[in-house]
Amino acid sequence: MRNILSRDNREVLEQFAWSNVLLAFDYDGTLAPIVSSPARAAMRATTRALLERLTRFYPCIVISGRARRDVMKWVRGTGVLEVLGNHGVEPWQAQGLFLDAVSGWRPVLAKHLGHLKGVEIEDKRYSLAIHYRRSRQKKNARTAILRAVALLGEVRIIGGVQVINILPAGAPHKGMALERERIRLTCDTAVYIGDDETDEDVFTLDRPGRLLTIRVGAKRVSRAAYCIRDQRQIDEFLEAMLVIRRNRRGARGARA
Ligand SMILES: [Mg+2]
Repeated sequence: MRNILSRDNREVLEQFAWSNVLLAFDYDGTLAPIVSSPARAAMRATTRALLERLTRFYPCIVISGRARRDVMKWVRGTGVLEVLGNHGVEPWQAQGLFLDAVSGWRPVLAKHLGHLKGVEIEDKRYSLAIHYRRSRQKKNARTAILRAVALLGEVRIIGGVQVINILPAGAPHKGMALERERIRLTCDTAVYIGDDETDEDVFTLDRPGRLLTIRVGAKRVSRAAYCIRDQRQIDEFLEAMLVIRRNRRGARGARA
């Protein structure tokens, strides 16, 4: 995978930065480092400061697998225009139909997984995340989870790092959410950056010249076109985007 920040790809980055572009970010593992306790998932102070400056030059949104309310508390005050939660379900597709589906799953999963040590069901109302990070027998835990999920009927399953996400069939994914938001915010192009399996729903969108996809960390099987080295490099990416538009504004001022 090619690093978007390498000098060879500078032109691609500038082309997008100069267009009527929407910048969209995943949260955990992208804007914020992965932490063992999701309750402490703050951005680094440097990232936050850069994001605050970036939102003055670009429309920026966050698309997360977490519940919207949960992410809001981390990005409030940064100038981010919208937070889409639950892999894109919230806020625009937050239908009672999905709530009903998810509440029907809870007792089934509790019955079949409740006894498993280290397996935790995170209830995000419009989707569930079944974590097995703390399990000592991860392979067995995963098998048991998938077996229980199979009892739920038609669901959308998204894998992740030691987590299995389940969404109602027919729920939008991150790719659909991004496109919807780009149109709503009247942008022509979008840049999306994410680190996980759920982000592949954006990476697989086929929008040549209109969508720039970037993965945090290179991965051979990813459909993203570019990568950054690791989560720490997000600051360098934000800085690069900032510099491009700031200079452009300066250049315009000089001409006037
Ligand atoms: Mg992530």
